[in-house]
Amino acid sequence: MAYIRFEALKEVFTREPHFVTAPSPKVSDYYGEKVFDNQKMRKYLSEDVYKKVVEAMDKGERIDRKVADQVASGMKAWAMEHGVTHYTHWFHPLTEGTAEKHDAFMDPIPGGGVVENFSGKLLAQQEPDASSFPSGGIRNTFEARGYTAWDPTSPAFIVGNTLSIPTIFVSYTGETLDSKTPLLKALAAVDKAATEVALYFDRNVTKVFSNLGWEQEYFLIDEALYNARPDLYLTGRTLMGHSSAKDQQLDDHYFSSIPERVKAFMYEFEIEAFKLGIPVKTRHNEVAPNQYECAPVYEETNIAVDHNLLVMDLMKKIARRHKFRVLFHEKPFSGINGSGKHNNWSLATDTGINLLSPGKTPRSNTMFLTFLINTILAVYKYQDLLRASIASSGNAHRLGANEAPPAIISAFLGTQISAMLDELEDKVTSKKMTPDEKTELKLNIGKIPEILLDNTDRNRTSPFAFTGNRFEFRAVGSSANCSSPMIALNTAVADQLTIFKADVDKIIEKGVKKDEAIFQVLRKYIIESKPIRFDGNNYSDEWAKEAAKRGLTNIKDIPEALLAYLKKDVIDLFVRQDVMSERELEARTEVKLEAYTMKVQIESRVLGDLVMNHIVPIAIDYQTSLVDNVAGLKDLFDHKEFTEMAGARLELIKEISSHISYIKAKVKEMTEARKVANAIEDSVEKAHAYSKVIFPYLDDIRYHVDKLELIVDDEMWPLPKYRELLFAS
Ligand code: ADP
Ligand code: MG
Repeated sequence: MAYIRFEALKEVFTREPHFVTAPSPKVSDYYGEKVFDNQKMRKYLSEDVYKKVVEAMDKGERIDRKVADQVASGMKAWAMEHGVTHYTHWFHPLTEGTAEKHDAFMDPIPGGGVVENFSGKLLAQQEPDASSFPSGGIRNTFEARGYTAWDPTSPAFIVGNTLSIPTIFVSYTGETLDSKTPLLKALAAVDKAATEVALYFDRNVTKVFSNLGWEQEYFLIDEALYNARPDLYLTGRTLMGHSSAKDQQLDDHYFSSIPERVKAFMYEFEIEAFKLGIPVKTRHNEVAPNQYECAPVYEETNIAVDHNLLVMDLMKKIARRHKFRVLFHEKPFSGINGSGKHNNWSLATDTGINLLSPGKTPRSNTMFLTFLINTILAVYKYQDLLRASIASSGNAHRLGANEAPPAIISAFLGTQISAMLDELEDKVTSKKMTPDEKTELKLNIGKIPEILLDNTDRNRTSPFAFTGNRFEFRAVGSSANCSSPMIALNTAVADQLTIFKADVDKIIEKGVKKDEAIFQVLRKYIIESKPIRFDGNNYSDEWAKEAAKRGLTNIKDIPEALLAYLKKDVIDLFVRQDVMSERELEARTEVKLEAYTMKVQIESRVLGDLVMNHIVPIAIDYQTSLVDNVAGLKDLFDHKEFTEMAGARLELIKEISSHISYIKAKVKEMTEARKVANAIEDSVEKAHAYSKVIFPYLDDIRYHVDKLELIVDDEMWPLPKYRELLFAS
C-alpha cells in the first residue's frame, strides 16, 4: 500500500498558513537593521576610520591593519548588541552555493575565564581548512592552503547569531577558488573601460557601476509530499511522473491571487530580507502551478549577487518553517514551465546617468547608442562565452524547450531601436554627409519616443532583450549563481568598450571631430553586430535555420557549451581584461564539467534505484492481482464466456509485462554504460559520455514508468503524483 503517499496527502490537507508579525508595519523602521552599512559604520567607527573605509571601498584599495582593527571592533560592538556570539567569513566556492565556518568571539584567557575577541586580523583574512571544495586541480590536498579575504565593498550582515563577513576565497599560489574574485575583477574592468568611454560625453564621470536586478523563479512543494519523493530530495527534480490532466493549460496560475500559506511564507522571508537590506520589491505567481517569482530592486552587481545568494538561502530556511520546500531547479517537473533567473543588467555612472537609457537629448543619446551598440557587439563576439556562462545540467532541460530562450544567443532591440540603428547604418557614411544632415541625424536620434522608457514591446522569447533602459539576460538558470553570467557579460563589454575607445581615438588623431569619429565607429559596429540582432520568435524552427545561416552557434550539449571557456579568443579576453588566467579558466571549466557529470550520474543512479525498488515491485504486485483475477474467472466460467471477459485484463497484463521488461533491460544497460563512463579519466570525454550516452536513458526509462503510472491501481502507486505535487493543498 502506498502508505507514505496517502499519509503525506493527509498532512497537506490539514495545513494552515502561519503569518508572523513584522517588527513594524513600516518597513523603513527595520530595513537593514542586520547590516553593517554606512549608517552603522558612522555610528560605530570614528570619523577618521569611517572615511578611510569608504575611500578604500570607492577605490577598491586595501584597508590597512590599524583601520581593520577598528572596523572589527566596531562590528563586534554592533553585532553583540544584536545577540551575536559568532562570526564567519562568508564566501562563494565553486559549488554555486555559499560557504561559512563559524567561530565564537570568545577566547579563553590565561588563568581562566574568557573574553570576547574580534581583531582586524580575523576580519581581514582567514585560512579555513577548506580543502574539500572543488578547485579543478588548483589545490591538491597536499598543498591545500587557501585563504579568505574581506570584501569591504559588500557589507557584513547578521544571520541568526552569527556575524557574516563577505570574503573572497583564493589559494596561496594566487589563483582564485571562488566566484566572487573574478566577478570583482570583471566589475573593475568594466568600470575602467566604461568610464573612459563615458568621459567622451560627460567630463565629470569618475566611476561606472554595473547594475543587476535579478528575478528569481522557484517552486514551492509541500514538505510531506517532497519527503515522499526521493528523486526530489536527492536531485531537486522529479525523474518520473505522468503529467497531471490539468496543469498550466488555462494559464490560471500566472499573476493569480497568491495562496494564503504561500503568502505567509513570502511575507516572512521578505521581512528577513528587508532586515538584511535586500530590497525585495516584487512577488507574483508564475505560469506553472506552484511556481512563484521574487524580484528586488536592482543594485550594484556585487551586492546584488550576494543578495541573491542570501535570499535563496533565506527562502530555503524559511520555507521549512512553513512546511514547504523550495525548488530552485531549472526543471523540477517535465511538461510544465521550468524556472529561470532573469538578469537585468545596465551600466550607470557616478554622475547618475544610466548609460543604457535613451534619455531625451541628442548628446546623451549618442552616449546611449554607444553603450547599446558596444554591448550588442560584445554579445555577438562572445555569444559562445555567454552560452557557456549559463550552461548547467539543470538549465539543459529549459533552454530550447519552448518556454525559455533557445541555446542560440541573440539580442532583441525592439522595433524603434532597430529602426534607429538601420537608419544610422544607411545614413552615416563617413564623408558624404553634410553638416546639416549630421545635425538632422542627431536630432532625429534625439527623438526617441518617451514611451521607450516604459517599453512594453517585450519579446519574451529572446535570451538577451533590451527592455527600455537595460538588457535582460533571460537564459540564466534559476539555481545559478549570477556571477558566471555577470563575469562573462561585464568582461566582454569591458573589452569591447576598450576597443571602441582605441578605434575612436585613432580616427580623432587623424583630425576628425570627436562626434563624427564616434558615429563612424558606431556605424561600423552596427554592421558588424547585425547577425546577433533578432526581434522575432526565438522559439520557432525558422529561427534555428535562420540563425545557422547567420553563423550563430546553437550548442545544446552542455559539456560542449562549457568548452567555450577554453577557446583561444575567450582565454585571451579574460587574460587581457585581467579577470582570469588560463589556468583559472581551465580549473573552472573542469569544475563545471565535473559538476555536470556528477549531477547526471546521481540522477541516473536515483532513477535506477527508484524504478527497481519502488515502481517495478508495485507494477508486479498489481499485475499479480490481475493474474489472480483472471485465474479466478477461468475457474468460474466456461471457455467462451471466459475469453470474452478476460480479454481486456489479458491485454493489461501483457502491457505491464512489456513495460517492466523494457524498464529492467534499460536500467541494466544504463548501469553498464555508467560503469564504462566512470572508467573514463578525461573529464571532457567523461562529461560527454554522460551527456550523450547516459542522459538519454533518463527520459527513455521514464517514459515507461509514466505509462505504468497510468495503468497501476492508484491506491498502490507509491510516489506522490504530479497532480498532488502541483495542486494538493
Ligand atoms: P519584468 O518581470 O517585467 O521583467 P520585474 O519587475 O519582475 O520586471 O523585474 C525587473 C527587474 O529589473 C527588477 O529587479 C528591476 O529593479 C530591474 N531593473 C529595472 N531597471 C534596471 C536597470 N536600469 N538596470 C538593472 N536592472 C534594472
Ligand atoms: Mg524580467
